[in-house]
Amino acid sequence: MLYDETPLGNTRLIETGQTRGFYAQGALVAVLTAQPLDRFLDYKAPEGGVMQGAYVEVPLGPRKVLGVVWGAGEGKFDPAKIRKISNVLDVAPMREEMQIFLQKVADYTLTPMTAMLRLATRAPGLTNPPSMQRVVALGSGQPDRMTPAREKVLAVLEEQEGQHFMPSELAQMAGVTPSVIKGLVKQGVIVELETPRDVPYPKLDPSLPSKTLTPSQASAATQLQAHLQTGAYQTTLLKGVTGSGKTEVYLEAVAECLRQGRQALVLLPEIALTVEFLDRFETRFGRRPAEWHSGVTMTERRRCWRMVGQGDAQVVVGARSSLYLPFQNLGLIIVDEEHDTSYKQEDGVFYSARDMAVMRASICGASVVLASATPSLETWVNAKAGKYTRIDLEKRFGAAELPDMCAIDLREDALETGRWISSTLVSQVNARLELGEQSLLFLNRRGYAPLTVCRACGEQVGCDHCDARMVEHRFHAHLMCHQCGETKPIPEKCPSCGVEGRMAAVGPGVERLAEEAADRFPDARISVLSSDMSLSARALKSRIAEIANGEADIIIGTQLVAKGHNFPLLTCVGVIDCDLGLQGGDLRAAERTFQLIRQVAGRAGRAEKKGVAYLQTHQPEHPVIKAIIAGEEDEFWQAEAASREQAGVPPYGRMAGIVITGPELSVVSNVAQHLVRTSIGLRQIGAEVYGPAPAPIARVRGKHRIRLLVKAPKGVMLQPALAAWRAGIRLPNNVRMNIDIDPQSFY
Ligand code: ADP
Ligand code: ZN
Repeated sequence: MLYDETPLGNTRLIETGQTRGFYAQGALVAVLTAQPLDRFLDYKAPEGGVMQGAYVEVPLGPRKVLGVVWGAGEGKFDPAKIRKISNVLDVAPMREEMQIFLQKVADYTLTPMTAMLRLATRAPGLTNPPSMQRVVALGSGQPDRMTPAREKVLAVLEEQEGQHFMPSELAQMAGVTPSVIKGLVKQGVIVELETPRDVPYPKLDPSLPSKTLTPSQASAATQLQAHLQTGAYQTTLLKGVTGSGKTEVYLEAVAECLRQGRQALVLLPEIALTVEFLDRFETRFGRRPAEWHSGVTMTERRRCWRMVGQGDAQVVVGARSSLYLPFQNLGLIIVDEEHDTSYKQEDGVFYSARDMAVMRASICGASVVLASATPSLETWVNAKAGKYTRIDLEKRFGAAELPDMCAIDLREDALETGRWISSTLVSQVNARLELGEQSLLFLNRRGYAPLTVCRACGEQVGCDHCDARMVEHRFHAHLMCHQCGETKPIPEKCPSCGVEGRMAAVGPGVERLAEEAADRFPDARISVLSSDMSLSARALKSRIAEIANGEADIIIGTQLVAKGHNFPLLTCVGVIDCDLGLQGGDLRAAERTFQLIRQVAGRAGRAEKKGVAYLQTHQPEHPVIKAIIAGEEDEFWQAEAASREQAGVPPYGRMAGIVITGPELSVVSNVAQHLVRTSIGLRQIGAEVYGPAPAPIARVRGKHRIRLLVKAPKGVMLQPALAAWRAGIRLPNNVRMNIDIDPQSFY
């Protein structure tokens, strides 16, 4: 085998319009593998030829690896040395639009194509032959003699007429040993059959009755359906207050998509939300959709990937990576809670699933629905500029009203030392307890306390590998670094001065808040919802269900509770520290605080009873806090947009965050400085390079981190300039450079 010299990353694809290639036996083809090489590889088509887009196995050195036939080979090398494709996999070939999509994402995010293919083939066992399973069913033979065990088996088979079973399953159901089954197989009483392991998902029925939509919901649904009927790409912002029925509305768009025989993808930001969604989905369409997220078993992932590829999964509900599933005929993508930060992947491939969803839809002529009560500023601006259609649902469904918002000024209603619930909030919670209603205390900080300090010498316990303080987790009885996950025991004596018994927890986390609540409300049933409680998805589901059923009086939670749950008895929300998100210089601090607090407040009063949200703050006059309380959303977005426009930052300017990491500070610094010195190409297109500066968290897992920030006016071709810049530098061993286009976090 020889390497093809074609570098990846520049679009060598496939201008659409030409017929898709078929390569006869022996023809040269370029194969993209998921191996960390930076080029396509040339191979010869096998016997019987091969289609463009076919998934194949190719020999690479001593191994065989998975690849995709990308197009014609270059043919620059001695054909005698080029090896043959080992075999063509029995899965639906990658469609051309998927090839284009992967290429575009690669170009946009500056990701090697090989890494893109890894994203697109994240299902186990793709190279295995389509797996069959051996099952047994009732045959026509008669047993030579009847025994009680045999009778039991036959009884099960007769009862479940026409069904087939795995042999072990049948033995278990009948309560017999597997040898009984074997004996019956020998005599032909039971027959063995082979069936494919991966079976199509049950058909969904869009004609089942929907809920009776309100006039504004119905008009929103009709608009979305009309977009789908055009068969052309279109993005809509579905902006509606929490509880206004956005989900009901977009389910009707899904119904239209199904009627057209196209596939739909519903992206949700949190697996915990999927459970509730699946139930609603099943009520509407009779069956559950396919699922794709980290909580899905390997077997089910493989089934999902294959069935999506052959059109036998009509709807997928999933996390951001489901965007790279091999849909055959994708007509609709819903991005629910589109502002949610978990749509941004910042690990391996840096991409925004929301933005890439729009890209994918624009390639395949699909509709996108971005649903949110508090859209991202980017989306708000796109809607205002007319790039996206905007549909508003202004009222909650039914009798439910939006909660009132009240500030609690902590300068007047001062907190006792070591306490975080003000007297006003205490009396409000007490009032709810008497009425049998629920209260939610929200604090967006995991663990028990953010700091552990020695009262004798002032030492703060830090992580040995990161520039970060260790956070106390009393529930797990240890300190934990939230950067690298390292834990250590809570020290008895100060690691610095050695004095015993003076280590103190400083500041609150949810666990500590729960402790305070237990103390102040001794008779209340308290339920804590935090992402670090090591709850399994199932345990989380049941805890959420318990709360919804009224089995808790006070809920204490981190941002996990802000998302989408319906707690009908909840009428009081207390935000413990409204100022928390406003600290720090993140350009989206105001936007995030606004979104988060409005979302949390939106948990209150979702049924008949009106809710109130109390916001504890030291700065009730802060413009963001004032905007949250006044509910002046459009005014807030307008002011926020104006200030971003003035600063030339997203969405009015372009940004790329660059982080250089390595074990040696001096080496990392040198690379950063060299990058700045060689950034002339960036400056030529009008971009500016800021830094180098130590990243806010300057060391993680023992690696030093230095940041550069590239800012450019909107409309410049930033990625090609960044790519050329990166190509011009040879990184020393151990040093890594990550480029994050449209960065969301700046740690
Ligand atoms: P959102 O997605 O905007 O938060 P949901 O779609 O979850 O709102 O609706 C909130 C609640 O109101 C849900 O329990 C939903 O079933 C109910 N609901 C909304 N619209 C209707 C309707 N037209 N008929 C019956 N129930 C509805
Ligand atoms: Zn650490």
